[in-house]
Amino acid sequence: MLTPVYDLSFPELSSLMAEFGQPKYRADQIWKDLYQQFWNSPDQFTNLPSSLRSLLAEKLQFQIIKPARVVNSSDGQTVKTLFQLLDGKSIEAVLMRYEKRNTLCISTQAGCAMGCVFCATGQMGFKRHLSSGEIVAQVMHYARQLHELGEVVTNVVVMGMGEPFHNYDNTLAAIDRLNDPDGYNLGARRFTISSVGLIPAIKRFASEKRQINLAISLHAADDALRTSMLPVNKRYPIDELLEACREYVDMTGRRITFEWALVNGVNDTPAQAHLLARKLKGLLCHVNAIPLNPTQGYSGQPTTRENANKFKEILNSHGIPCTIRLRRGIDIQAGCGQLASQV
Ligand code: SAH
Ligand code: SF4
Repeated sequence: MLTPVYDLSFPELSSLMAEFGQPKYRADQIWKDLYQQFWNSPDQFTNLPSSLRSLLAEKLQFQIIKPARVVNSSDGQTVKTLFQLLDGKSIEAVLMRYEKRNTLCISTQAGCAMGCVFCATGQMGFKRHLSSGEIVAQVMHYARQLHELGEVVTNVVVMGMGEPFHNYDNTLAAIDRLNDPDGYNLGARRFTISSVGLIPAIKRFASEKRQINLAISLHAADDALRTSMLPVNKRYPIDELLEACREYVDMTGRRITFEWALVNGVNDTPAQAHLLARKLKGLLCHVNAIPLNPTQGYSGQPTTRENANKFKEILNSHGIPCTIRLRRGIDIQAGCGQLASQV
């Protein structure tokens, strides 16, 4: 078995070079080649002796995710890539270009075990965790393409397939690797992790006092409704979840984002908005609401513009900031898991 190169931390790459009997500076060179030159094939490493290039080719795997399908939105602003992993499983990652931003949405698992009823990834079930390298490779894929256009990735949202806090170690290892000032150097503040609300992981994340942004998928303001949409709510009910969110804000001083997919007549009602406002009172937060992206396995429909505006107004009247986001790239099924669920 070859070692996937993006799975290696810098210390691991260094000890590999020592094992190969290479001078210490080779690790620095290769690290910069990988993360600053975006090279991803041994023959590109022309700054290395050919014997070492052959050794890299023999021992390391460079292409660990293979683009299998690319879909561009009609406005050209959104690019979605379906990748095949070495074991044949599929994941997807999306590039959204908007004003001066190039935001990537990346996956942390093939499938997802959380079973949220409205989510295409949830509907396909859990396949496996991604390795840290498979997460890093998604970012490097787009970073390489943008580099060729003289552009850079500005933000990364961990909102693709999978529940990042269910794959905590690999997700955070991937972000740490991408943060490295001597490597890719994308700052922690440029990342947002979105979680369905796994309380022990939120506590751990808070205690680590990272600069990474946190978003929590709430979608409903009472336990009965939330459990019917997000089964994980049975285990981690809403009041306990919001208590953990308050602890997070107290410990880090950072604002938390709540996500809300507005489903017509289900969670876009004035009653839900008022209840939500009561529950979020005094919490440093922001509510990000988007109309539901319809999926095959769920009969719910997107909210109307009127209901969405009303929902926002109610929250605002209670002093809670709320943004209604447009569904971007809907024509390429940019919603979570919607491409991979077709293959
Ligand atoms: N597992 C994490 C991150 C991936 S999902 C989480 O659940 O937060 C990213 C976001 O997309 C979540 O807020 C999720 O609830 C939302 N989402 C999933 N399916 C959707 C759909 N069909 N329409 C709108 N939002 C959806
Ligand atoms: Fe998993 Fe997030 Fe989809 Fe829920 S919404 S099934 S947690 S990916």
